[in-house]
Amino acid sequence: MAIVEPAATPRGGAAGTLLALTNISKRFQTERQDTLALDDVSLEVRAREIVCIVGPSGCGKSTLLNIAAGIDPHFAGTATFEGQPITGMARERAVVFQEPALFPWLNVRANVEFGLKLRGVPKADRTPIVDQQLALVNLSKFDRAYIHELSGGMKQRVQLARALAVEPHMLMMDEPFAALDAQTRDDLQLELQSVAGRIGATVLFVTHNVREAVILGDRVVVMSRGPGRVRRVIDIPLSRPRTPDDHDVADFAAMVRAELQESSSEAEPRYAI
Ligand code: ADP
Repeated sequence: MAIVEPAATPRGGAAGTLLALTNISKRFQTERQDTLALDDVSLEVRAREIVCIVGPSGCGKSTLLNIAAGIDPHFAGTATFEGQPITGMARERAVVFQEPALFPWLNVRANVEFGLKLRGVPKADRTPIVDQQLALVNLSKFDRAYIHELSGGMKQRVQLARALAVEPHMLMMDEPFAALDAQTRDDLQLELQSVAGRIGATVLFVTHNVREAVILGDRVVVMSRGPGRVRRVIDIPLSRPRTPDDHDVADFAAMVRAELQESSSEAEPRYAI
């Protein structure tokens, strides 16, 4: 099987919770400054939902995602995934970053295949999995292309295919479309909605783009700056696919922007020296 099929019963703990971050605080201490990046942040992500974290640059979005992914194990509070403490990175949680972390010496197919090879999946099983993933992200025709031959949007689709190939239980995406031009970004937002819907994926998605958060999120977590806190969680009960031109998307985006504006007018100093 190549992709994460929707679970018959929700995975994880109470009410299908996959990710539970409870009272998370994170302080970065260097010789010159002491930054409280996250202050008592709690957040749950349930199976098959897309949760977007939005907030101004520096409000702690990546810090929170890194804790959830197991990249940063040094924090105060409790972080669990499927009921187990998060102590490091794990196959169940695939991470996609803004900069595609692809191997330039491998072609598209081999890049997508890489994680499966590492896991010891036999060659005969790998081929259909890779085929299925490439079809899912509309890259079947480019399977022999090398990374330098691809556009930015195609590279991100390869990243997505590679992440999904190892059947993660959750995708964690940190500003994956931020470096792309507007049209490509719109296309990939549509594509992610379609892929996530078809396979029942659970996604935690970090962005500073309000409209993107509203287009993608079943819920949007609005963070405030200095130190990072959850200001409000907004349900987005709109049908899919959502596009940037939808009036309802614009209305919700205005609501999120208003929250962010209020939060920045109340912002505390970011650094305690
Ligand atoms: P965002 O993703 O919302 O832009 P970050 O999570 O990257 O914000 O950063 C939150 C705060 O923590 C910022 O003030 C940033 O300068 C600080 N920070 C992040 N990483 C480090 C680090 N490795 N060392 C010191 N400070 C850091």
